[in-house]
Amino acid sequence: MKTIKVSVVTPDGPVYESDVEMVSTKAQSGELGILPGHIPMVAPLQIGAVRLKNGGKTEYVAVSGGFIEVRPDQVSILAQSAESADVIDIDRAVRAKERAEQRLKEQQRENVDFKRAELALQRAINRISVAERRI
Ligand code: ATP
Repeated sequence: MKTIKVSVVTPDGPVYESDVEMVSTKAQSGELGILPGHIPMVAPLQIGAVRLKNGGKTEYVAVSGGFIEVRPDQVSILAQSAESADVIDIDRAVRAKERAEQRLKEQQRENVDFKRAELALQRAINRISVAERRI
């Protein structure tokens, strides 16, 4: 089976690096599935999961948006934060979710902090579902 190199990088350094048979994730324009030999492209990502398939196994990485760059033999994902499923602290994400929900209740929709809380909520929900592999 052909493989493609994948790296997920954040300002704190690399989070994931491997050769895989298929990468799938959510671009802002919709679901994206990448196989070796894909045409070159760059796209902004949603807060979501990156699924990495190899040898009958699937690994998951949570990403908080960012960009994907695809070349025929290499996929690079650059995100402000990203965590492999195994390192996600679920309790922390649950606390972040509760904080964000509380803020959203208290604040007005047009408020800048409302948008910030909405994004924090999405990151927390994404981390919980990636950690529990409910994706
Ligand atoms: P929190 O309010 O819990 O800090 P956050 O969404 O504001 O959540 P980020 O700003 O996205 O956090 O991330 C800050 C750093 O903490 C990043 O390095 C990120 O990978 C890490 N991180 C955030 N939440 C978790 C988590 N639940 N488990 C493991 N690492 C996390």
